[in-house]
Amino acid sequence: MRIGFIGLGNMGAPMAHNLLKAGHELTVFDVNERAVIALGEAGAQPAASPQDAVQTCDLVITMLPAAAHVRTVYLGEQGVLTGIRPGVLLIDSSTIDPQTAREVAAAAAEQGLSMADAPVSGGTGGAQAGTLTFMVGASAELFDRIQPVLACMGKNIVHCGELGTGQIAKICNNLLLGISMIGVAEAMALGDALGIDTKILAGIINTSTGRCWSSDTYNPWPGIIETAPSARGYTGGFGADLMLKDLGLATEAAKQARQPVLLGALAQQLYQSMSQRGDGGKDFSGIVNLYRKPEV
Ligand code: NAD
Repeated sequence: MRIGFIGLGNMGAPMAHNLLKAGHELTVFDVNERAVIALGEAGAQPAASPQDAVQTCDLVITMLPAAAHVRTVYLGEQGVLTGIRPGVLLIDSSTIDPQTAREVAAAAAEQGLSMADAPVSGGTGGAQAGTLTFMVGASAELFDRIQPVLACMGKNIVHCGELGTGQIAKICNNLLLGISMIGVAEAMALGDALGIDTKILAGIINTSTGRCWSSDTYNPWPGIIETAPSARGYTGGFGADLMLKDLGLATEAAKQARQPVLLGALAQQLYQSMSQRGDGGKDFSGIVNLYRKPEV
């Protein structure tokens, strides 16, 4: 299939690589020229704009930071909707609010185009390994058509319901992830302060009732998991500012629904503190440093 792929960051680049590996033809665009060049070296066709990226494709995938970028890429000058042929399928895998997902899809529908929201979970490791979970909001017919392409990048492809429901699933998941990471950070830091070997503590947690992904796959304490961002100074991974964005989406959606999210609001404040300290670009598991004594 000919695929236009836009947004080649921490997640988008490895996802695009997996599509190439599966034999798809890719035309790629990112505002970061170096990212486009890197994918070009791997066999993709570089494009100069979203419009350029989608001109000859059958399907479009976008993987962008936030709602404003999604609006620009689809609806802006030289955007996806300005350069597209009828019948092309659209998939946005960025994490954004359900309302924007529905608005952009409505603009696409005016041109007779079908769009799905398909945010992901699984982190950069899952993106590299092709084991992401896709949470798809789309008609049943569109889901059946895009499922085989998503399966080149993910292991669990879940149809959540109509348009927007993928984003609902994603923001609820990340509300929990943001909270659970803080819980693991707090427990690991307490264990360290009280004098237990943190490797032993992590081993206990990971075979006990405290076990969770934040602990057994992405432990925030350095030296526990070699592949986690905590092992490389909290670089790469999922930036704290992106987690802050997702918690903002969750608390805003909760406000609209008059639904309390008490721990979510507290978690939002803690990641805000991390961002204020200048660490918003670091992986969100760096939240553990709020609990650690400054090095002397
Ligand atoms: P990122 O910041 O690493 O990458 C985003 C890319 O989009 C960058 O390369 C940037 O240059 C590009 N971009 C920005 N504006 C653009 C525009 N107008 N046109 C073209 N390209 C543009 O972010 P990421 O970590 O890859 O995350 C992407 C999305 O996936 C976010 O919505 C995030 O919340 C979600 N997500 C991330 C993770 C993770 O672990 N990193 C996990 C699940 C979901």
